[in-house]
Amino acid sequence: MASAQELLQWEETLGGSGFPTPEPLPAPIASGAARGAQDLRARLQVLTDEAAECTQCELHKGRTKSVFARGNPETDLVFVGEGPGYHEDQQGLPFVGRAGQLLDRMIAAMGYDRDGVYICNVVKCRPPDNRTPLPSEAQACARFLIPQLELVQPKAIVALGRCAAENLQVVPPAGRWRGMWGEWRGIPVMPTYHPAFLLRSPQFKKPVWEDLQAVLKVLNREVPRR
Ligand code: URA
Repeated sequence: MASAQELLQWEETLGGSGFPTPEPLPAPIASGAARGAQDLRARLQVLTDEAAECTQCELHKGRTKSVFARGNPETDLVFVGEGPGYHEDQQGLPFVGRAGQLLDRMIAAMGYDRDGVYICNVVKCRPPDNRTPLPSEAQACARFLIPQLELVQPKAIVALGRCAAENLQVVPPAGRWRGMWGEWRGIPVMPTYHPAFLLRSPQFKKPVWEDLQAVLKVLNREVPRR
């Protein structure tokens, strides 16, 4: 074994007076997909923060919390509702009231985890008395909905209720709208009844389930056995 003296001499011949200080390790290199996911979440967070400060329409005056989205932005399926209600405004999350519980059961029936889809609304602040958002409010909030959907880029969108369907421009000029496929910037959109309507009129759950099965088909997913 080399003596300490020999080791020191050997280091000196290398031009150093001690063991080199290791360079700090570079940060772990994220895979392309992981970087993309981080970037997606960061961009959505910017929009979330902007929505929380937004004063572009009157709805901001009554807001407790803005309601941007919940769920997984790296999904193939997005649900778009109308606007936050009382519980959503309190918690800052969409579809957490009774209609939300029904929506969660619809999502589970499709074979998704509750947080395996992405859920958002046409407007991010609660309309007074839960009224339908005015066209001007929906228009002002399109500055969030449009980039939000473009960032998530799902393979299919379910428009929950006529307001969502109208704002995604998939309601035919006349006649039936529920169950009629449309397209938003190249993404197939299935307009169906809103879960709040289904709570009042449960007899329409069957056609809504047919719509959701059609969505599963477009996504190449099996319809779970019930
Ligand atoms: N209804 C909606 O349209 N959105 C919600 O977030 C809750 C109820």
